[in-house]
Amino acid sequence: MPLAPQDSGMSISESQMSIPGMSTIDPSLRSTPSLLVGLKRGICRRCPACGQGALFRGYLAVLPACSVCGNDNEQYPSDDFAPYVTIFLVLHLVMPLFIYADRTWEMSVWFEAAVAIPIFIVITLAVLPFAKGSVIGFAWAFGVTRKTNQD
Ligand SMILES: [Zn+2]
Repeated sequence: MPLAPQDSGMSISESQMSIPGMSTIDPSLRSTPSLLVGLKRGICRRCPACGQGALFRGYLAVLPACSVCGNDNEQYPSDDFAPYVTIFLVLHLVMPLFIYADRTWEMSVWFEAAVAIPIFIVITLAVLPFAKGSVIGFAWAFGVTRKTNQD
């Protein structure tokens, strides 16, 4: 017996949905995934799909759905890779400066530690949200999601 087309149950058009308390969601604003676009939007802490909606709520919490295009930004894994990218960047950018300072001024180890550790902590915490955004943009560009075939 052939199946009759089923009503999806949606009473609003697919191109525009409205969620109470949120702006109008327009999935047509989503762009085609691209690495440079994803990285740029992620570093700017914007939704990688549209570039307009905020990616984070607060410091590092990813918003479940973009308020502009409705893209599910929680589906992109960024658990351990964002801290790895952050540590990689901070160590490679800041460590040469500390090595240079160590060779130039010959400070005591305790003074170097007292200066270097807080600087590393502050810079790492400052870079982490941007690294997490870029990792989410990277995952968006390559279609890497948490979803499995069973979902
Ligand atoms: Zn969006």
